[in-house]
Amino acid sequence: MQCTEIRQLISSYIDDQLGLDEKNAFTFHIRNCSNCREELEEIQSVHELFASAERFSAPYGFATRIMASLETNEPSRWWAFFTLRPLALRAVEWAFAIIVVITGLLFGNLLTADKGPPAGQATIQESFSLDLFQAMPPDSIGGVYVALAEATHEK
Ligand SMILES: [Zn+2]
Repeated sequence: MQCTEIRQLISSYIDDQLGLDEKNAFTFHIRNCSNCREELEEIQSVHELFASAERFSAPYGFATRIMASLETNEPSRWWAFFTLRPLALRAVEWAFAIIVVITGLLFGNLLTADKGPPAGQATIQESFSLDLFQAMPPDSIGGVYVALAEATHEK
């Protein structure tokens, strides 16, 4: 099959509408022709995008509000309700979150700066040290597992 024929069959292939012989010839060509393969992948991703978009439904009363605003010649009203208010709220939330993070970093640095570990308490490095891990008792389930793993490893 020629590339031009393949391009015409891509949609039918995605919709699984090809006959067996056509499908075999199509997949054979796709496997061996990178140009057609790229074309197929591109169209497939667009198909998937539309397929997933169909799952979203408009909010309750969405169409009614649009129709009402069209009839009363007030196109800016519902538009402002949907975009401006949530955007302003989101900006405030983001600003607040950023302030919290920055103050957290500043205070964290102030609290830990120039202070050694308190007496009697392990430093962070010590508490994560491997010395704290104890060898597994050989009669525990973990010990049996380790013994088995070592035994199979030696074979
Ligand atoms: Zn081709």
